[in-house]
This record gives sequence, structure tokens and C-alpha cells, in this order.
Amino acid sequence: VIRQLTIIGLGLIGGSLALALKRAGAVERVTACARRQETLDEALKLGVIDAGSTDLAEAVSGAEVVVVATPVGAMESIFRQLAPHLTADMLLTDVGSTKGSVVAAARQAFGELPTGFVPGHPIAGTEDSGVAAAVADLYQHRRIILTPLETSSHEAVARVRAMWEACGAEVIEMGVAHHDEVLAATSHLPHMLAYALVDTLARMGESEEIFEFAAGGFRDFTRIASSSPAMWHDICLANRGALLAVLRRFADDLAQLTQAIEQGDSDYLLQTFTRAKGARDRFAEKFED
Ligand code: NAP
Repeated sequence: VIRQLTIIGLGLIGGSLALALKRAGAVERVTACARRQETLDEALKLGVIDAGSTDLAEAVSGAEVVVVATPVGAMESIFRQLAPHLTADMLLTDVGSTKGSVVAAARQAFGELPTGFVPGHPIAGTEDSGVAAAVADLYQHRRIILTPLETSSHEAVARVRAMWEACGAEVIEMGVAHHDEVLAATSHLPHMLAYALVDTLARMGESEEIFEFAAGGFRDFTRIASSSPAMWHDICLANRGALLAVLRRFADDLAQLTQAIEQGDSDYLLQTFTRAKGARDRFAEKFED
């Protein structure tokens, strides 16, 4: 049981972690640091935290585990503020959607990386944000990726793993660069496509009419365009290299598809759609209920 968990940046992801650990009886006390007092007041009212402060030093005092759950662009500054308060036996992890940038931020802020630092990324979430959207079962049967560093102690990795397992999640380990490449393709690219598609349609003259006639397919494809713009601004800049590589590849494929439509190339169209349907059906069979 964790004596005190401190969450810095209390929103959907950090709030859901607090609720899940409380429900599992895996934490005694949860504190949080937020920029806005309203966030803390709301979290107290919802029973997500036991105490909160807008002062980081006050919030982390007595912490056994510190979880940084702000957008990734804010993490270097958070790590800098945290540095003087980090004790040798404190566990430090984060939930950021990119890992190379978070590790680089930690290196900048701490100099030598703390042995208690184990970066992480829950593969769970919704398009909602803020602490009011937090739910206790967000991580149930979901995957959590940890990217332990050479400097991370075995004990720290085991304890961060145990924290997520207490939330009902399956924990897997991966290298930092590999994480960023895989997530660029599976998460970051689809978010860019959803934002771009909705924005293109919204700027068309007849956008009202287009949205009026949009049906289930449009809703499925574009749900993630309701995600937090600030969060996605940070993610696409933080994982720029890996994201640009898949974006360019996708742009080439889209150009070929455009050309096939122009030329009425039935073979290309049928082959592409059939291949994609096969891949999607296999994915759905394996991962969906
Ligand atoms: P969120 O609901 O918007 O919560 C983030 C919280 O951080 C906010 O409530 C905000 O509280 C605080 N914050 C925002 N900007 C900040 C800044 N510049 N400096 C300090 N604090 C700031 O976001 P979330 O969905 O929980 O995401 C949090 C992290 O988890 C992000 O790094 C994201 O990449 C990662 N993640 C998200 C998902 C997802 O699906 N949403 C999934 C996996 C990982 P105050 O305004 O009160 O300070």
C-alpha cells in the first residue's frame, strides 16, 4: 500500500489513477498540485484527493510516489521545481504520451537521473479532459507501457509496475525510442488525421449541412478530434521526428490513392480497401469485445 501518492497536474489521467488506487485500497492518502485552486476544490469534492495545494513543495511533502500528469510540454518546468524536493527513496513516474521528450526534460532538470525515476504511459484515455472526467475503471484491462532507464533501480520499476497492476492494468516494458515510434503510428498519426479531417470539413462553405448529414462513420472516425488541443499541441511537437516519418509515409499513400481515383484504377482501389479491411477485421477480432 502506498502511504502517500502525489499527483502533479490533476486531470483525466492523474485523477483516474487516484480513483483506481483508492478503490483498490492500494493508497492511504492522495495529494495533488494544480495551477488552479478550482481544480483542487473540485477534486476534493469528488473524493479524488485528500488534500491539495497550488504550491508544489507543499503538495509533494511526505510523498512516497510522485506522478507527473501534466501535458508533456510542461514537464521540464515541473521537474525543475521538483528537483530540490526529491528524496532518495521517492518514486517518480509520469504518464506522458511521449517518452523521449520526457526523459530529455528530466535530464535537463535533474542533471543525473534519479534512480527512482521510471517513465510510463497508460494506453488508456478518452477524448474528455479535466479532473471531473476521471473514472476509477479507466485502466481496467488496459495496457501500461513503462520505459525503464539504465538509471532506474529494479525496485523502482517493480513498485511502479505494482501500482498500475493494482489499477487492473497489464504492464509491459519497452525502450524509449521504440515507444515513440510505435505510438507515433498508432496514436499520434490518427489524432492528426482526425483533427485535419474535421478542420477541412468545418472550413467548407456548406459545413453546417455536411455535419448535419454526417452519420456513424464520421462520428467513429472523428471522435478523437474532441481531445484537448493543448495536450495534442505538446505531443506532436514532442514526438516530431517519429510523427513526421509516419505522416510523410501516409501523405505518399494518400497521394497514390488520389491518383488511383483520378485514373479510375479499380485494381489499386480494390486491393487497397481489401488489404485494409483484412487488417482491421483481424485487429477487431483480437482486441475488441
Ligand atoms: P487533462 O485532463 O487536461 O489534465 C492535465 C492537468 O494538468 C490539467 O487538469 C491542468 O490542471 C494541468 N495542467 C495543464 N497544463 C499545465 C501546465 N502547462 N503546467 C502545469 N499544469 C498544467 O489531461 P490528461 O488527459 O489527464 O493528460 C495528462 C497527461 O497524460 C498528458 O501528458 C497526456 O499526454 C497523457 N495522456 C493522456 C491520455 C488521454 O487519452 N487523455 C492518455 C495517455 C496519456 P490545472 O489547470 O488546474 O493546473
